[in-house]
Amino acid sequence: MTSKKITTKEAITLEEKYGAHNYHPLPVVLTKGEGVFLWDVEGKKYYDFLSAYSAVNQGHCHPKIVDALKEQAETLALTSRAFHNDVLGLYEKYINEFFGYDKVLPMNTGAEAVETALKLTRKWAYTKKGIKKDQAKIVVCDNNFHGRTTTIVSFSNDPDGYSDYGPFTPGFVRIPYNDIAALEKELEDPNVAGFMVEPIQGEAGVFVPDEGYLKKCAELCKSKNVLFIADEVQTGIARTGKMLACDHEGVRPDIVILGKAISGGVYPVSAVLADDDIMLVIKPGQHGSTFGGNPVACKVAMAALDVIKEENLAEKPEKLGEILRRELRAINSDMLTLVRGKGLLNAIVIKPKGGKTAWDVCVKMAENGLLAKPTHGDKIRFAPPLVITEEQLMECVEIIKKSILSFE
Ligand code: PMP
Repeated sequence: MTSKKITTKEAITLEEKYGAHNYHPLPVVLTKGEGVFLWDVEGKKYYDFLSAYSAVNQGHCHPKIVDALKEQAETLALTSRAFHNDVLGLYEKYINEFFGYDKVLPMNTGAEAVETALKLTRKWAYTKKGIKKDQAKIVVCDNNFHGRTTTIVSFSNDPDGYSDYGPFTPGFVRIPYNDIAALEKELEDPNVAGFMVEPIQGEAGVFVPDEGYLKKCAELCKSKNVLFIADEVQTGIARTGKMLACDHEGVRPDIVILGKAISGGVYPVSAVLADDDIMLVIKPGQHGSTFGGNPVACKVAMAALDVIKEENLAEKPEKLGEILRRELRAINSDMLTLVRGKGLLNAIVIKPKGGKTAWDVCVKMAENGLLAKPTHGDKIRFAPPLVITEEQLMECVEIIKKSILSFE
Protein backbone atom coordinates (compact mmCIF):
# COMPACT_ATOMS: atom_id res chain seq x y z
CA MET A 1 0.00 0.00 0.00
CA THR A 2 1.26 3.44 -0.87
CA SER A 3 0.15 6.65 0.82
CA LYS A 4 0.01 8.51 -2.53
CA LYS A 5 -3.57 9.39 -3.44
CA ILE A 6 -4.96 7.49 -6.35
CA THR A 7 -6.30 9.49 -9.33
CA THR A 8 -9.70 9.04 -10.94
CA LYS A 9 -8.13 7.43 -13.98
CA GLU A 10 -5.98 5.04 -11.94
CA ALA A 11 -8.87 3.93 -9.75
CA ILE A 12 -11.16 3.26 -12.71
CA THR A 13 -8.41 1.40 -14.56
CA LEU A 14 -7.85 -0.88 -11.56
CA GLU A 15 -11.56 -1.65 -11.24
CA GLU A 16 -11.83 -2.39 -14.96
CA LYS A 17 -8.86 -4.73 -14.86
CA TYR A 18 -9.42 -6.56 -11.56
CA GLY A 19 -13.12 -6.31 -10.78
CA ALA A 20 -16.08 -8.10 -12.30
CA HIS A 21 -17.88 -5.91 -14.79
CA ASN A 22 -21.30 -6.20 -13.14
CA TYR A 23 -21.83 -2.44 -12.75
CA HIS A 24 -21.53 0.59 -14.98
CA PRO A 25 -20.81 3.49 -12.62
CA LEU A 26 -20.49 7.14 -13.50
CA PRO A 27 -16.79 8.02 -14.01
CA VAL A 28 -16.43 9.59 -10.56
CA VAL A 29 -14.15 8.17 -7.84
CA LEU A 30 -15.34 9.15 -4.37
CA THR A 31 -13.15 9.30 -1.33
CA LYS A 32 -15.10 11.13 1.37
CA GLY A 33 -18.66 11.79 2.47
CA GLU A 34 -20.26 14.04 5.05
CA GLY A 35 -23.96 14.78 5.37
CA VAL A 36 -25.35 15.57 1.91
CA PHE A 37 -21.89 15.93 0.35
CA LEU A 38 -19.37 13.66 -1.35
CA TRP A 39 -15.84 14.46 -2.49
CA ASP A 40 -13.87 12.79 -5.28
CA VAL A 41 -10.17 11.96 -5.24
CA GLU A 42 -9.33 15.24 -6.98
CA GLY A 43 -11.10 17.17 -4.23
CA LYS A 44 -14.24 18.09 -6.17
CA LYS A 45 -17.33 18.39 -3.99
CA TYR A 46 -20.75 17.04 -4.99
CA TYR A 47 -24.27 16.92 -3.69
CA ASP A 48 -25.31 13.28 -3.33
CA PHE A 49 -28.69 12.86 -5.02
CA LEU A 50 -28.81 9.05 -4.82
CA SER A 51 -27.93 8.33 -1.16
CA ALA A 52 -26.59 4.89 -2.13
CA TYR A 53 -30.05 3.89 -3.34
CA SER A 54 -31.65 5.33 -0.19
CA ALA A 55 -29.28 3.67 2.28
CA VAL A 56 -27.79 6.96 3.46
CA ASN A 57 -31.01 8.69 4.55
CA GLN A 58 -29.29 10.00 7.70
CA GLY A 59 -26.46 11.59 5.65
CA HIS A 60 -22.95 10.31 5.02
CA CYS A 61 -20.86 9.25 8.01
CA HIS A 62 -23.35 10.43 10.60
CA PRO A 63 -21.19 10.85 13.74
CA LYS A 64 -23.64 9.11 16.06
CA ILE A 65 -23.88 6.04 13.82
CA VAL A 66 -20.14 5.94 13.14
CA ASP A 67 -19.39 6.20 16.88
CA ALA A 68 -21.73 3.28 17.57
CA LEU A 69 -19.92 1.25 14.91
CA LYS A 70 -16.45 2.10 16.23
CA GLU A 71 -17.26 1.48 19.86
CA GLN A 72 -18.87 -1.89 19.26
CA ALA A 73 -16.23 -3.00 16.73
CA GLU A 74 -13.59 -2.42 19.40
CA THR A 75 -15.55 -4.41 21.97
CA LEU A 76 -17.15 -7.40 20.24
CA ALA A 77 -17.79 -7.65 16.51
CA LEU A 78 -19.10 -11.15 15.87
CA THR A 79 -20.08 -14.23 17.82
CA SER A 80 -22.30 -15.92 15.23
CA ARG A 81 -25.64 -17.10 16.55
CA ALA A 82 -24.05 -20.19 18.08
CA PHE A 83 -23.90 -18.11 21.27
CA HIS A 84 -25.89 -15.22 22.63
CA ASN A 85 -24.47 -11.71 22.67
CA ASP A 86 -25.37 -8.89 25.01
CA VAL A 87 -26.66 -6.51 22.30
CA LEU A 88 -28.97 -8.62 20.14
CA GLY A 89 -31.87 -8.82 22.59
CA LEU A 90 -31.74 -5.08 23.27
CA TYR A 91 -31.83 -4.40 19.54
CA GLU A 92 -34.69 -6.83 18.98
CA LYS A 93 -36.75 -5.14 21.69
CA TYR A 94 -35.84 -1.71 20.28
CA ILE A 95 -36.77 -2.40 16.66
CA ASN A 96 -39.99 -4.21 17.53
CA GLU A 97 -41.13 -1.33 19.71
CA PHE A 98 -40.03 1.12 17.00
CA PHE A 99 -42.18 -0.47 14.29
CA GLY A 100 -44.82 -2.21 16.41
CA TYR A 101 -44.19 -5.91 15.74
CA ASP A 102 -43.69 -8.95 17.99
CA LYS A 103 -40.54 -10.34 16.43
CA VAL A 104 -37.60 -9.49 14.18
CA LEU A 105 -35.39 -11.81 12.15
CA PRO A 106 -32.07 -10.02 11.53
CA MET A 107 -30.16 -10.44 8.27
CA ASN A 108 -27.56 -8.36 6.39
CA THR A 109 -28.64 -7.34 2.89
CA GLY A 110 -31.97 -6.47 1.34
CA ALA A 111 -32.01 -9.57 -0.85
CA GLU A 112 -31.41 -11.82 2.16
CA ALA A 113 -34.30 -10.20 4.00
CA VAL A 114 -36.53 -10.74 0.96
CA GLU A 115 -35.46 -14.40 0.83
CA THR A 116 -36.25 -14.67 4.53
CA ALA A 117 -39.75 -13.23 3.99
CA LEU A 118 -40.37 -15.69 1.14
CA LYS A 119 -39.27 -18.68 3.21
CA LEU A 120 -41.33 -17.47 6.15
CA THR A 121 -44.38 -17.12 3.92
CA ARG A 122 -43.98 -20.62 2.50
CA LYS A 123 -43.47 -22.20 5.91
CA TRP A 124 -46.51 -20.34 7.24
CA ALA A 125 -48.51 -21.58 4.23
CA TYR A 126 -47.70 -25.24 4.98
CA THR A 127 -47.76 -25.18 8.76
CA LYS A 128 -50.57 -22.68 9.43
CA LYS A 129 -52.70 -22.11 6.35
CA GLY A 130 -52.81 -25.77 5.39
CA ILE A 131 -51.61 -25.50 1.81
CA LYS A 132 -50.44 -28.90 0.48
CA LYS A 133 -46.71 -29.61 0.25
CA ASP A 134 -44.90 -27.60 -2.42
CA GLN A 135 -48.12 -26.02 -3.73
CA ALA A 136 -47.75 -22.53 -2.18
CA LYS A 137 -47.76 -19.54 -4.50
CA ILE A 138 -46.53 -16.04 -3.85
CA VAL A 139 -47.92 -13.20 -5.95
CA VAL A 140 -45.53 -10.43 -7.04
CA CYS A 141 -45.75 -7.51 -9.47
CA ASP A 142 -44.48 -6.73 -12.95
CA ASN A 143 -41.36 -4.55 -12.95
CA ASN A 144 -40.57 -5.53 -9.37
CA PHE A 145 -37.10 -5.25 -7.93
CA HIS A 146 -36.44 -7.28 -4.80
CA GLY A 147 -32.76 -8.19 -5.20
CA ARG A 148 -30.40 -10.43 -7.12
CA THR A 149 -30.53 -14.00 -5.76
CA THR A 150 -31.50 -16.85 -8.07
CA THR A 151 -34.94 -17.17 -6.45
CA ILE A 152 -35.61 -13.43 -6.56
CA VAL A 153 -34.60 -13.07 -10.21
CA SER A 154 -36.86 -16.03 -10.96
CA PHE A 155 -39.82 -13.66 -10.75
CA SER A 156 -38.20 -10.59 -12.32
CA ASN A 157 -39.33 -9.44 -15.77
CA ASP A 158 -36.18 -7.39 -16.35
CA PRO A 159 -34.12 -9.37 -18.90
CA ASP A 160 -30.87 -7.95 -17.46
CA GLY A 161 -31.92 -9.35 -14.10
CA TYR A 162 -32.91 -12.89 -15.09
CA SER A 163 -31.46 -13.80 -18.52
CA ASP A 164 -29.23 -16.87 -18.50
CA TYR A 165 -29.72 -17.46 -14.78
CA GLY A 166 -32.28 -20.26 -15.11
CA PRO A 167 -33.59 -22.77 -14.25
CA PHE A 168 -35.80 -20.62 -12.10
CA THR A 169 -37.52 -21.17 -8.77
CA PRO A 170 -41.20 -22.00 -9.32
CA GLY A 171 -44.09 -20.85 -7.14
CA PHE A 172 -44.37 -17.20 -8.11
CA VAL A 173 -47.12 -15.48 -10.07
CA ARG A 174 -46.65 -12.02 -11.53
CA ILE A 175 -49.48 -9.53 -11.95
CA PRO A 176 -49.49 -5.90 -13.11
CA TYR A 177 -48.54 -3.34 -10.43
CA ASN A 178 -51.20 -0.90 -9.31
CA ASP A 179 -53.94 -3.26 -10.50
CA ILE A 180 -56.35 -4.25 -7.74
CA ALA A 181 -58.57 -6.35 -10.03
CA ALA A 182 -55.57 -8.47 -11.06
CA LEU A 183 -54.77 -9.20 -7.43
CA GLU A 184 -58.38 -10.00 -6.63
CA LYS A 185 -58.46 -12.52 -9.46
CA GLU A 186 -55.20 -14.16 -8.42
CA LEU A 187 -56.36 -14.46 -4.82
CA GLU A 188 -59.18 -16.74 -5.91
CA ASP A 189 -56.54 -19.48 -5.98
CA PRO A 190 -56.52 -21.03 -2.46
CA ASN A 191 -52.85 -21.92 -2.85
CA VAL A 192 -51.78 -18.28 -2.71
CA ALA A 193 -49.83 -17.76 0.51
CA GLY A 194 -48.60 -14.20 0.13
CA PHE A 195 -48.52 -11.03 -1.92
CA MET A 196 -45.15 -9.24 -1.93
CA VAL A 197 -45.09 -5.65 -3.11
CA GLU A 198 -42.93 -2.52 -3.09
CA PRO A 199 -45.09 0.35 -1.74
CA ILE A 200 -43.41 2.46 -4.44
CA GLN A 201 -41.44 0.71 -7.18
CA GLY A 202 -37.99 2.22 -6.72
CA GLU A 203 -35.76 0.51 -9.26
CA ALA A 204 -38.53 0.58 -11.86
CA GLY A 205 -38.11 4.37 -11.83
CA VAL A 206 -40.00 5.49 -8.73
CA PHE A 207 -43.43 4.38 -9.85
CA VAL A 208 -45.96 5.58 -7.28
CA PRO A 209 -49.23 3.58 -7.28
CA ASP A 210 -52.64 5.23 -7.03
CA GLU A 211 -53.75 6.38 -3.62
CA GLY A 212 -55.60 3.59 -1.86
CA TYR A 213 -53.86 0.79 -3.77
CA LEU A 214 -51.88 -0.56 -0.82
CA LYS A 215 -54.86 -0.33 1.52
CA LYS A 216 -57.12 -2.19 -0.86
CA CYS A 217 -54.45 -4.86 -1.50
CA ALA A 218 -53.95 -5.36 2.24
CA GLU A 219 -57.72 -5.72 2.75
CA LEU A 220 -58.02 -8.24 -0.08
CA CYS A 221 -55.15 -10.28 1.36
CA LYS A 222 -56.70 -10.24 4.80
CA SER A 223 -60.05 -11.44 3.45
CA LYS A 224 -58.34 -14.42 1.78
CA ASN A 225 -55.92 -15.28 4.60
CA VAL A 226 -52.99 -14.29 2.40
CA LEU A 227 -49.95 -12.55 3.89
CA PHE A 228 -49.40 -8.95 2.79
CA ILE A 229 -45.64 -8.54 2.53
CA ALA A 230 -44.21 -5.03 2.09
CA ASP A 231 -40.70 -4.72 0.72
CA GLU A 232 -39.76 -1.40 2.34
CA VAL A 233 -36.02 -1.84 1.69
CA GLN A 234 -35.94 1.32 -0.43
CA THR A 235 -39.11 3.14 0.69
CA GLY A 236 -38.73 2.57 4.42
CA ILE A 237 -37.02 4.53 7.18
CA ALA A 238 -38.53 7.98 6.51
CA ARG A 239 -37.62 8.26 2.81
CA THR A 240 -41.14 9.05 1.61
CA GLY A 241 -42.17 11.23 4.55
CA LYS A 242 -43.42 8.50 6.89
CA MET A 243 -41.40 5.92 8.77
CA LEU A 244 -42.71 3.28 6.34
CA ALA A 245 -44.33 4.08 2.99
CA CYS A 246 -47.27 1.85 4.01
CA ASP A 247 -47.97 4.31 6.84
CA HIS A 248 -49.30 6.81 4.27
CA GLU A 249 -52.35 4.57 3.90
CA GLY A 250 -52.51 3.30 7.45
CA VAL A 251 -51.55 -0.19 6.27
CA ARG A 252 -49.85 -2.57 8.70
CA PRO A 253 -48.23 -5.33 6.61
CA ASP A 254 -48.13 -8.90 7.94
CA ILE A 255 -44.45 -8.97 7.05
CA VAL A 256 -42.18 -5.92 6.67
CA ILE A 257 -38.83 -6.17 4.90
CA LEU A 258 -36.23 -3.53 5.82
CA GLY A 259 -32.65 -2.87 4.75
CA LYS A 260 -30.49 -0.04 3.47
CA ALA A 261 -31.15 2.99 5.73
CA ILE A 262 -31.75 0.83 8.79
CA SER A 263 -27.98 1.24 9.20
CA GLY A 264 -27.64 4.74 7.75
CA GLY A 265 -25.42 3.13 5.14
CA VAL A 266 -22.46 2.40 7.39
CA TYR A 267 -22.90 -1.38 7.64
CA PRO A 268 -25.03 -4.02 5.89
CA VAL A 269 -28.10 -4.53 8.08
CA SER A 270 -31.50 -5.87 7.10
CA ALA A 271 -34.49 -7.15 8.99
CA VAL A 272 -37.81 -8.93 8.65
CA LEU A 273 -40.59 -7.99 11.05
CA ALA A 274 -43.71 -10.02 11.79
CA ASP A 275 -45.94 -11.06 14.66
CA ASP A 276 -45.54 -14.30 16.61
CA ASP A 277 -48.14 -16.34 14.71
CA ILE A 278 -46.06 -15.89 11.57
CA MET A 279 -42.47 -15.56 12.79
CA LEU A 280 -42.52 -18.52 15.14
CA VAL A 281 -43.16 -21.01 12.32
CA ILE A 282 -39.40 -20.97 11.75
CA LYS A 283 -37.75 -23.15 14.40
CA PRO A 284 -34.12 -23.33 15.54
CA GLY A 285 -31.77 -24.42 12.77
CA GLN A 286 -34.28 -23.76 9.98
CA HIS A 287 -32.93 -20.39 8.80
CA GLY A 288 -30.10 -18.02 9.64
CA SER A 289 -26.93 -16.16 8.76
CA THR A 290 -23.46 -16.01 10.34
CA PHE A 291 -23.46 -12.22 10.41
CA GLY A 292 -27.19 -11.54 10.94
CA GLY A 293 -27.82 -9.93 14.31
CA ASN A 294 -24.13 -9.38 15.10
CA PRO A 295 -23.40 -6.85 17.84
CA VAL A 296 -22.01 -4.20 15.48
CA ALA A 297 -25.07 -4.40 13.22
CA CYS A 298 -27.39 -4.18 16.23
CA LYS A 299 -25.68 -1.10 17.69
CA VAL A 300 -25.48 0.58 14.30
CA ALA A 301 -29.17 -0.02 13.58
CA MET A 302 -30.24 1.34 16.96
CA ALA A 303 -28.12 4.47 16.41
CA ALA A 304 -29.42 4.89 12.84
CA LEU A 305 -33.05 4.65 13.98
CA ASP A 306 -32.33 6.98 16.93
CA VAL A 307 -31.06 9.57 14.43
CA ILE A 308 -34.27 9.33 12.39
CA LYS A 309 -36.29 10.06 15.54
CA GLU A 310 -34.01 12.65 17.13
CA GLU A 311 -33.62 14.68 13.96
CA ASN A 312 -37.28 14.30 12.94
CA LEU A 313 -36.15 13.01 9.55
CA ALA A 314 -39.54 11.52 8.74
CA GLU A 315 -41.09 14.97 8.89
CA LYS A 316 -38.87 16.60 6.26
CA PRO A 317 -39.38 14.71 2.98
CA GLU A 318 -43.04 15.60 2.47
CA LYS A 319 -42.49 19.36 2.14
CA LEU A 320 -39.04 19.15 0.50
CA GLY A 321 -40.33 16.62 -2.01
CA GLU A 322 -43.18 18.91 -3.00
CA ILE A 323 -40.77 21.78 -3.51
CA LEU A 324 -38.42 19.60 -5.54
CA ARG A 325 -41.15 18.28 -7.85
CA ARG A 326 -42.67 21.76 -8.29
CA GLU A 327 -39.29 23.25 -9.23
CA LEU A 328 -38.40 20.37 -11.56
CA ARG A 329 -41.77 20.64 -13.34
CA ALA A 330 -41.03 24.31 -13.97
CA ILE A 331 -37.90 23.47 -16.00
CA ASN A 332 -38.71 24.31 -19.56
CA SER A 333 -37.09 21.54 -21.60
CA ASP A 334 -38.65 19.02 -23.95
CA MET A 335 -36.05 16.50 -22.72
CA LEU A 336 -37.76 16.46 -19.33
CA THR A 337 -40.98 14.56 -19.97
CA LEU A 338 -42.07 13.48 -16.49
CA VAL A 339 -41.42 14.25 -12.83
CA ARG A 340 -42.79 11.89 -10.16
CA GLY A 341 -42.23 10.68 -6.65
CA LYS A 342 -43.22 10.87 -3.04
CA GLY A 343 -41.31 12.61 -0.28
CA LEU A 344 -37.63 12.54 -1.21
CA LEU A 345 -37.90 9.47 -3.44
CA ASN A 346 -38.29 10.99 -6.91
CA ALA A 347 -37.45 10.44 -10.55
CA ILE A 348 -37.49 12.30 -13.82
CA VAL A 349 -37.90 10.78 -17.27
CA ILE A 350 -35.56 12.04 -19.97
CA LYS A 351 -36.39 11.93 -23.67
CA PRO A 352 -33.16 11.66 -25.68
CA LYS A 353 -32.31 14.69 -27.77
CA GLY A 354 -29.62 14.98 -30.40
CA GLY A 355 -28.17 11.64 -29.26
CA LYS A 356 -27.97 12.86 -25.65
CA THR A 357 -29.60 10.59 -23.07
CA ALA A 358 -30.25 10.40 -19.32
CA TRP A 359 -26.67 9.15 -18.97
CA ASP A 360 -25.34 12.38 -20.55
CA VAL A 361 -27.56 14.43 -18.25
CA CYS A 362 -26.05 12.58 -15.26
CA VAL A 363 -22.51 13.18 -16.53
CA LYS A 364 -23.31 16.87 -16.97
CA MET A 365 -24.85 17.11 -13.49
CA ALA A 366 -21.70 15.49 -12.06
CA GLU A 367 -19.59 18.11 -13.84
CA ASN A 368 -21.83 20.72 -12.23
CA GLY A 369 -21.52 19.17 -8.76
CA LEU A 370 -24.46 16.78 -8.28
CA LEU A 371 -24.43 12.98 -8.40
CA ALA A 372 -27.39 10.95 -9.65
CA LYS A 373 -27.65 7.78 -11.69
CA PRO A 374 -29.88 6.74 -14.58
CA THR A 375 -32.06 3.65 -14.23
CA HIS A 376 -33.62 1.70 -17.13
CA GLY A 377 -32.04 4.02 -19.68
CA ASP A 378 -34.30 7.04 -19.51
CA LYS A 379 -35.06 7.63 -15.83
CA ILE A 380 -32.98 9.47 -13.23
CA ARG A 381 -33.68 8.98 -9.55
CA PHE A 382 -33.44 11.98 -7.23
CA ALA A 383 -33.13 10.86 -3.61
CA PRO A 384 -30.84 13.08 -1.52
CA PRO A 385 -30.03 12.31 2.11
CA LEU A 386 -32.95 13.44 4.27
CA VAL A 387 -30.70 15.84 6.18
CA ILE A 388 -30.68 18.19 3.17
CA THR A 389 -31.91 21.74 3.91
CA GLU A 390 -34.35 23.69 1.77
CA GLU A 391 -31.57 26.07 0.77
CA GLN A 392 -29.34 23.19 -0.34
CA LEU A 393 -32.24 21.65 -2.21
CA MET A 394 -32.77 24.89 -4.14
CA GLU A 395 -29.08 24.95 -5.02
CA CYS A 396 -29.47 21.40 -6.34
CA VAL A 397 -32.49 22.41 -8.42
CA GLU A 398 -30.32 25.09 -10.05
CA ILE A 399 -27.63 22.51 -10.89
CA ILE A 400 -30.21 20.12 -12.39
CA LYS A 401 -31.82 22.93 -14.38
CA LYS A 402 -28.51 24.24 -15.70
CA SER A 403 -27.45 20.71 -16.68
CA ILE A 404 -30.66 19.84 -18.54
CA LEU A 405 -30.84 23.23 -20.27
CA SER A 406 -27.24 22.85 -21.48
CA PHE A 407 -28.61 20.37 -24.05
CA GLU A 408 -31.17 22.83 -25.45
N1 PMP B 1 -35.75 -4.65 -2.31
C1 PMP B 1 -35.84 -3.42 -2.83
C2 PMP B 1 -37.18 -2.75 -2.93
C3 PMP B 1 -34.70 -2.75 -3.27
O1 PMP B 1 -34.80 -1.53 -3.80
C4 PMP B 1 -33.44 -3.41 -3.17
C5 PMP B 1 -32.16 -2.76 -3.62
N2 PMP B 1 -32.25 -1.76 -4.54
C6 PMP B 1 -33.41 -4.70 -2.62
C7 PMP B 1 -34.59 -5.28 -2.20
C8 PMP B 1 -32.13 -5.48 -2.52
O2 PMP B 1 -31.30 -4.96 -1.53
P1 PMP B 1 -29.74 -5.36 -1.50
O3 PMP B 1 -29.10 -4.69 -2.67
O4 PMP B 1 -29.26 -4.83 -0.18
O5 PMP B 1 -29.68 -6.84 -1.57
